[in-house]
Amino acid sequence: MVKIIKCAFCSGTGNDPFDLLSPISHCLVCNGTGKVEVEEPLKKCVFCSGTGKNPLGARVSCIVCGGKGNNHCESDTKCKHCKGTGKSSDGLPCTRCRGKGLI
Ligand SMILES: [Zn+2]
Ligand SMILES: [Zn+2]
Ligand SMILES: [Zn+2]
Repeated sequence: MVKIIKCAFCSGTGNDPFDLLSPISHCLVCNGTGKVEVEEPLKKCVFCSGTGKNPLGARVSCIVCGGKGNNHCESDTKCKHCKGTGKSSDGLPCTRCRGKGLI
C-alpha cells in the first residue's frame, strides 16, 4: 500500500524551502505538489527527525528519506549499531541500517 503524505521538505507548500533556483521554484522532492508517496508501513525518518532536510547543514533534502520525512520500514527493531539514531559516529547515515535507525 502506498500512502500519500505531506511533503516534509516544503511542509506541504510545494515551494523550494531554500529558494535555491528562484523564489518561485518548485520543491524538488514533491515536484511542487506538496504531497509525496511512501510505501506502508512507514516510519518517521530519525536521521532528519522528520523534517526532510539534511541534518548535516547542507541546503538539500535528507539523504536517507529523500526529503519525505518518512521511510518505508517493515521492522520495529532498533539498530544496535547506531542505537536507533540512524547516525554513525561521523554524522553520516549508519551503514548498518542505512540511516533508518531500524533494522
Ligand atoms: Zn515538497
Ligand atoms: Zn530524513
Ligand atoms: Zn543503524
